[in-house]
Amino acid sequence: MKKIACFCIPAHGHTNPMLPVAAELVKRGNVVRFYSFDEFENKISAAGAEYISCDAFLPTLTKQEEAGLKKVSTTEMTIQDIRITSSMNDFLEKEFQSFQPDVVYTDSVCFWGKLNAWKHQVPMVVSTSTFAFNQMSSRYMKSSLKEMADLLFGMPRVSKELKKLEPYGFHVKNVFSLIQNDNDTDTIVYTSRRFQPCAESFSEHYAFVGPSVFSELQPEKEKERPLIYISLGTVINDRPDFYTKCMDALKDLNADVVISGGNAIDREALGELPEQIKVYPYVDQLAVLAKADVFITHCGMNSVSESLYMATPMVLYPQTNEQCAVARRATEIGAGMLLAEDSSEGIRAAVQEILNNKAYANAAADCSADFRACSGPAGAAEFIENAPHS
Ligand code: UDP
Repeated sequence: MKKIACFCIPAHGHTNPMLPVAAELVKRGNVVRFYSFDEFENKISAAGAEYISCDAFLPTLTKQEEAGLKKVSTTEMTIQDIRITSSMNDFLEKEFQSFQPDVVYTDSVCFWGKLNAWKHQVPMVVSTSTFAFNQMSSRYMKSSLKEMADLLFGMPRVSKELKKLEPYGFHVKNVFSLIQNDNDTDTIVYTSRRFQPCAESFSEHYAFVGPSVFSELQPEKEKERPLIYISLGTVINDRPDFYTKCMDALKDLNADVVISGGNAIDREALGELPEQIKVYPYVDQLAVLAKADVFITHCGMNSVSESLYMATPMVLYPQTNEQCAVARRATEIGAGMLLAEDSSEGIRAAVQEILNNKAYANAAADCSADFRACSGPAGAAEFIENAPHS
C-alpha cells in the first residue's frame, strides 16, 4: 500500500486520463489524494480518490488575462500556473508534512505538483495528456507564428513571475525545464509507442499505456444508417457558426448526427431541427464514439485517442499547434483526413469521403487493436506504485 498525491491543472482534457488510473490505484488498496478544483470534485470522488479542494488558491483574473486563457495563450497559462504555485505554497507545505506521500502523480504542466515533488524529494510520475514532449517531438509539433510570437513576447513576463518562486525554495532555470521532460523522468503517456511521434527518442522511463478510459464498451458499428458525431472539446468550443455549418452540411444525408456543443449553442435559437440531428451541451463521448462512423473533431489528444480506441475514423479540424500534431499523426496512420475547407460543402465532402472509403475505418480499427493491446490504467497504476524506476 502506497500513499499517492495526485495533482492536475483545472482542465478536463488533463484531468480525465488521470481518473481511471486513480481508480485503479484505489482498487489496489493505495491511499489516493487528488488535489484539484471543485468543477472536478464529482468525477474524482466517483473514481474513489479523496478529493482535496484547491479552489481557494485560484487567482482572480483581469479581463485581459481571462481573454488570453480563453485563447489558450501559453504565456497566460504559464503565468497562472506560477501564481497558483505561489499561492498554494504554505498549504502544500503542510500537506506534504502531514500526508507524507510515497509518490507524486502529477500532470506535466501542473507546476505546483512537479515543484513540490522536487522540493520534498518525493518520487514523481508525470502524466502527459498530449504526446510525450522532447526536442525531437517538439519539432514534429511545430509552433505557429502566432504561438511563437506569444512565447517570445511573453518571455520577460514569465521570467519575472518565475523569480517570485525563489523565496519558496523553487529555483527554476527557465520555463522549458519545467514543461519539457527529460529521459530520466518517470512519465506516463496515454497512447501507444506506435502512435507516439519519434517514439524511439524516449527512454524506458516512459510508459506508453494507451488511452486511459473508464469505458468497457467495444466498437459496435452495425446499424441502419451511419452516425456522425461532432465535438470541438471542452475548451475552445464556442463556435456556433461551425455547428450551424455542420447541420447545414449534414441535414440531407441519410445519417444520424449528434453534436456536443458545450454551452455555446443557444438551443432555443436553432428552432425546429430535423429529427435526425441531436444537439447536446455534453454527451457520454465514449458511448457515442463506440457507435459512430465519423467523428468531426478539433483533435484534442483525448478525443482522437478515444475515437481510435472506438475504431472511429475522423474528419480532422485542429485549431492549435498541439492539435495539428495530433491531426498529422492521425492522417499518417490513415485514420482521418484534414478538413480542407470549413464551409458546408467542405464538411459534407469530407464526411462522404470517410463514409465511402473504408480504408479510413480499417486504419482506425487497426489502431483500436493496437491501443487495446497496451497495458491501460492497470499498467499505469503498477508503474506509479513501483516509482522511482531506475
Ligand atoms: N468530452 C465528453 N463529452 C463531451 C465533450 C467532451 O466526455 O460532450 C470529454 C472527451 O471524452 C475528452 C475530453 O472531454 O475526454 C476532451 O478532451 P480533449 O483533449 O479531446 O480536448 P480539450 O477539451 O482538452 O480541448
